[in-house]
Amino acid sequence: MKITAVETVCVAPRWVFLKISTDEGITGWGECLGDKAAAICGAVTELERYLVGEDPFRIEHHWQVMYRGGFWRGGPILNAAISGCEIAMWDILGQALGVPVYQLLGGKVRDKIRFYCHTGGDTPEALVESCHQAKERGFNAVKFGITRQFRSVEGAAAIKRAVGLAEAVRCEMGDEFDFMVDLHGRVSPAMAKILCDELAPLYPLFVEEPVLPENVPALADVVKSTRVPIATGERLFTKYGFREVLENHAAAVLQPDLCICGGILEGKKIAAMAEAYYVTTAPHCPYGPILTAASLQLDACIPNFLIQEQISLGEGIFEEPFRLMDGHVETPTKPGLGIKVDEAALKDRPYIPRDVPRWFHEDGSMADW
Ligand SMILES: [Mg+2]
Repeated sequence: MKITAVETVCVAPRWVFLKISTDEGITGWGECLGDKAAAICGAVTELERYLVGEDPFRIEHHWQVMYRGGFWRGGPILNAAISGCEIAMWDILGQALGVPVYQLLGGKVRDKIRFYCHTGGDTPEALVESCHQAKERGFNAVKFGITRQFRSVEGAAAIKRAVGLAEAVRCEMGDEFDFMVDLHGRVSPAMAKILCDELAPLYPLFVEEPVLPENVPALADVVKSTRVPIATGERLFTKYGFREVLENHAAAVLQPDLCICGGILEGKKIAAMAEAYYVTTAPHCPYGPILTAASLQLDACIPNFLIQEQISLGEGIFEEPFRLMDGHVETPTKPGLGIKVDEAALKDRPYIPRDVPRWFHEDGSMADW
């Protein structure tokens, strides 16, 4: 089998799908990071020159060539392009062999996969209402932010406002309802320690990105100061990016994003490294449903899986979307990624270029989003 084309398909709201065609009529789908779409599509064009004419079954070899062969390594653009191609090649291989991808990665270790959704609200009432809506949709776990612009040191009002949001959810939704708090790298280590102290009695499943990922010792310092499980990883790439986090004992939960960390097999390697540190895995997935489908394949076959993020199970994109039952999706059984993309439906979702929000403090200085 030979690869004949590698195409990107950008669709609303911010999803970059990737399609690999072959000379035997099998088509594989992947997904890349949805931000910086034009640059990522350009990077895919660079990779296409290498991939066309190649055997799509040599996934590890192609990964090595794409990652190491260009001299310039790393970063979100190249890793997103590699990840999309890698996922699509797994889809092709699974379809050609008639098995789900996880079957080729050791086989399934679980029959169903737990999912969570995003909720939000600037007031306790709005946040609790959003959690009730999530529960009605079938979720028993949610994630939300509690901070907006947060100065490097804040006083009582900002801290109590942030913690009050999480307190309202625990109080209103009860102990059986799990929640995670995403600090999104918006706060300083000093403030992260205080917030984690205050959140600890509420037992969040984890607190995510208490500080930015670019300074691992600072993250490790927060981890040492708190008993709350700390999660990180959505802005890290490949096994090399996660190594330092593990060696510094800087997280209890790793969140590799398969559309940027290097793909499904790279996610498996990262999870295996985490396993050796008794660290669990909760793959990041705030983009499109092809990423959800790829994540499901990884979740099915790693022993140290915790919970899966999603914003789409494929409604309006897949001929048969995944179905949520009691907060879980059954481990898929169809070949490859187990999806059929409705390509006509993609044409009805024009992509509009956009930037992630830019936030500023009251005094006009830049804040982290
Ligand atoms: Mg996050």
